[in-house]
Amino acid sequence: MIEVKDLSDPALSKLIKTKRRVALIPVGSIEQHGPHLPVSTDSDIVSEIAKRLSEKTDFMLLPTINYGVSFEHHPRFNLSIPKSTLRKFIIDLCTSLSKNRINHIIILNGHHGNQPSLKNIPEIMNKITRGKVQVSVFSYWHFMKRKFDHAGFVETSIMLAISKRVAMKKARKGFNIDKYSEKQKNRLNKLASRSFLAIAKNGVWGDPTKATVKDGKMILSEIVQNLLKESNLPY
Ligand SMILES: [Zn+2]
Repeated sequence: MIEVKDLSDPALSKLIKTKRRVALIPVGSIEQHGPHLPVSTDSDIVSEIAKRLSEKTDFMLLPTINYGVSFEHHPRFNLSIPKSTLRKFIIDLCTSLSKNRINHIIILNGHHGNQPSLKNIPEIMNKITRGKVQVSVFSYWHFMKRKFDHAGFVETSIMLAISKRVAMKKARKGFNIDKYSEKQKNRLNKLASRSFLAIAKNGVWGDPTKATVKDGKMILSEIVQNLLKESNLPY
């Protein structure tokens, strides 16, 4: 596993020279995840997935970007940066990677609200560098069968598998979207992306009460396997 922050400059320079290198940038968030999970949940999960992915590849793992776009969690705790700031930051980082002769970049996203900032980055980088820099963006939940949630079964199970900071006794059922029609689901999803708490009153989307370590481990390995298939394609 190549973890960039741990390496010296001579070691990195040597690595970059030997073959075409792929940088992996995990992007998370700091935001409320109900009463039972830490605010770093998205960052923790995406860091773990990125670590596992880089253990199975020779991707160069970069430090996680811990802050994202989480304004929708106001008035609960969230440390947020505007969409345009996150986009600019990542474009600048990709540009810097390219100056270091790393022209293949994977952005691994762990927070729903970051998606609008990230989705155009491949095209923007392609344009700025005239095709020299290739960026792929993946949101981890697109690589699992279960539905994405927020502090619900999926996130809580994954956290149980990777963290000691889950307070299961405080876990409570949250908003359940399954009982609504497709049309209503679309409307509720839109509303939640503006004000999460207006829809999920206790800050939880889904049901964390039946989450287990075993499910967390299974979901994690499913995501990593599927990401491996996908992320190897362009390289
Ligand atoms: Zn989350």
